[in-house]
Amino acid sequence: MKTLSFRCELPNGIHARPASHIEAVCNRFDSEIIWTNGRTKLSANAKSVLSLIGTDTLLDDPCQLTIDGHDEETAFAALREFIEKDLPACDAPLETTEQEDEHLALPRNLANLNPKLIRGRAVSAGFGQGQLLHIGAINFDNIESIAATTQDEEQDRLKQGLETLKTSINIQLKAATHTEFEVLNAHLSIATDREFNSTLASKLSIGKSCADAVIATAKHYGEMMKNSSSTYLRERELDIRDVCFQLLQAIYGEQRFASQLELTGPSICMADDLTPSQFLELDKSKLKGLLLTHGGSTSHTVILARSFAIPTLVGIDGNSLQAYLNQEVLIDGSLGFVATEISEPLSRYYQQESFVAEQVAKRQEAYRFEPGCSQDGKKLEVAANIAHSVEADSAFTNGAEAIGLFRTEMLYMDRSNAPEEDELYNIFCQAIEAANGKSIIIRTIDIGGDKPVDYLNIPAENNPFLGYRAIRIYQEFLPMVKTQLRAILRASAHGRLKIMIPMISSMEEILWVKDVLAEIRQELRSEHIPFDEKIPLGIMLEVPSVAFIIDQCCEEVDFFSIGSNDLTQYLMAVDRDNAKVLKNYNSLNPAFLRTLDHVVNEVHRHGKWIGLCGELGAKGSVLPLLLGLGLDEISMSAPSIPATKERIARLDSRECRQLLNKAMQCRTALEVEHLLAQFRMTQSDAPLVAADCISLDRDLRSKEEVIKTLADNLYLTGRCRYPNKLADDLWAREDVFSTGLGFGFAIPHTKSEHIEQSAISVCRLAKPIQWGDEEARFVIMLTLNKHAAGDQHMKIFSRLARKIMHAEFRDHLMNAESAHQIEAILKAELEII
Ligand code: PEP
Ligand code: MG
Repeated sequence: MKTLSFRCELPNGIHARPASHIEAVCNRFDSEIIWTNGRTKLSANAKSVLSLIGTDTLLDDPCQLTIDGHDEETAFAALREFIEKDLPACDAPLETTEQEDEHLALPRNLANLNPKLIRGRAVSAGFGQGQLLHIGAINFDNIESIAATTQDEEQDRLKQGLETLKTSINIQLKAATHTEFEVLNAHLSIATDREFNSTLASKLSIGKSCADAVIATAKHYGEMMKNSSSTYLRERELDIRDVCFQLLQAIYGEQRFASQLELTGPSICMADDLTPSQFLELDKSKLKGLLLTHGGSTSHTVILARSFAIPTLVGIDGNSLQAYLNQEVLIDGSLGFVATEISEPLSRYYQQESFVAEQVAKRQEAYRFEPGCSQDGKKLEVAANIAHSVEADSAFTNGAEAIGLFRTEMLYMDRSNAPEEDELYNIFCQAIEAANGKSIIIRTIDIGGDKPVDYLNIPAENNPFLGYRAIRIYQEFLPMVKTQLRAILRASAHGRLKIMIPMISSMEEILWVKDVLAEIRQELRSEHIPFDEKIPLGIMLEVPSVAFIIDQCCEEVDFFSIGSNDLTQYLMAVDRDNAKVLKNYNSLNPAFLRTLDHVVNEVHRHGKWIGLCGELGAKGSVLPLLLGLGLDEISMSAPSIPATKERIARLDSRECRQLLNKAMQCRTALEVEHLLAQFRMTQSDAPLVAADCISLDRDLRSKEEVIKTLADNLYLTGRCRYPNKLADDLWAREDVFSTGLGFGFAIPHTKSEHIEQSAISVCRLAKPIQWGDEEARFVIMLTLNKHAAGDQHMKIFSRLARKIMHAEFRDHLMNAESAHQIEAILKAELEII
């Protein structure tokens, strides 16, 4: 007999994951191996995960392994090495989402309400309210007992059920990411655990049915973990419940043991992790938000959540939420928080947010399914960027005229091997079905750089963006690339697909790709597999060298799509992910604009098609330049589509062309920004005082509500694009001195870059509210454009302040019968034409 003594070095003690590693090593030997915890005096069969967990071993506990059997020498050596070298690494924390940026700042109108918040990372925008539920947890007390048949029959059932469960976990393991892999592995260890299996068998032997045996076993081990001194271990009780419930499903079928994900009312669901299929099972009409303690912004579940417009946070601390289970909470998936107490002011804040969202949706509805077209009839197709076929539906319901960029990298990420041809083919066919005749540009894999794929083992590089990325890795991974191209070509038989190659920098690469494609076409022809013989081939225009051989490229490919994200970084030699040089990363640099103008002209001169699919496409402020360029298409994330179409409809392409000419003559990006700001001001001749900015007898109850409502109204009337930022500017002044003037009047004011059309907004309140030290019932809000003429701001402000001193002026305003009457009074008294 050999004995090995050591201290437990694992911060979370021996829980399911490390235990499954210990069990795996021990099971390689015939010897009997016993784990003893010197502190708790509990011993366990080290070949059983559950038994090991039962020793309640925590950090620093003195432990002993006794090994007895014919291979004890080799087992001892192997275990000593394992305990010293591998065991400490078995407890690497499971990936939680890194908090890339600090929490997003709250708008002042919200922050002033001092809401009680738990923060997380915002990954799917929007807000929602509902009962906080923990999903994934299964309650065995609610499961009805099932009568036993004969013992033999029950034993057969159990055996088969366990086999089915193991096969199912093994299948999932094949496509699992690191995190999923570890969790699934721990689950597999439980399902194959000797103690677990013998507990199940012992329950059957006393005449229980499989169902009752599983329930009793779940409770037995659940209790054991619940009683552990480690919080971490107590939480692992969930794993037991999960495995036992899956076992019930495997034995009796999912219909009999339907997953307990049924929502009964508006719910905010929290889970450690949620598989895409679990997410799909949830009733979306009741699911108002999702909180995941794990999961990154690109996990499939998160992508699904985005496409169903379910507000979602990841990396949220599940423990802090426990206290609020079954209570009403509010999630904001844009700002990244859960509000755990919904005060009346907070509730009113979000009522106003809903009102604004509804108004915007109503307005955009008119453009959503219209083709992108300027006021003077110039077409600019508005397409969507997607990363998975599951996003295609929502892209088209947002009004996408096509898919301008299907980034396929994600299909290769977060898994242990590349997808096979049929899997890809099915995904592309799904997208084709959603497109219903519209075209889809599928970009072949752009792996490397900032998009690593572990199983390709591409070594880390000093300059990944200038390194082994996209087309540059294709030769080494040719079979994988060919598989993708075959899948695209096969799918092209069913819909309008186009192929696009990323990061092309030379003619050699284009010719090489064409050769590979020709080979695959030949293969397919000889296999009698149908495909679109005329499938267009295009390239991303994102490396500047292509701009100088664009004429030659036009002879070889059918279309181009400008990758403005990369083209900016490569043209300006600025790493797009390096915060230190971010100020040099500016797509408004005249050099960049001139490059765009050159390539668009050249491509059109050769009768070819050119779009743009980088982030620039969704930037409303830059849209006049993109329309001026004469691009054929811009492609962006789907939610930006309706707003973009609306903006295009208000622009005149000839004016935009002139604007672009001027912008290209500017010497700095800042000059271009000013030019764009001025252009926006000339776009509408909305007067300073207008009835649509005047509201009477409103039920607003605080300074925050007034400022928010008036700023939101400026957004709705098209005078400002970022109402929260405008409101923050107004608050910056209020912080210095409150603008209550006495007599029930207040004049909040700002000169801000966030107001495009200067405005005087008016709000007469139903009841007076506190405004600093004063009370106010009549609020006149001045928001003047930063670029507007000189001291107009102060002139109007002081004229107004002087007038308010006169009772007659105040009475006129207080007693006015309509917004138009107030408009007339202000225009006359302030001498505004
Ligand atoms: C781009 O570079 O603009 C682009 C669309 O590609 P990605 O962001 O995927 O590199
Ligand atoms: Mg790119």
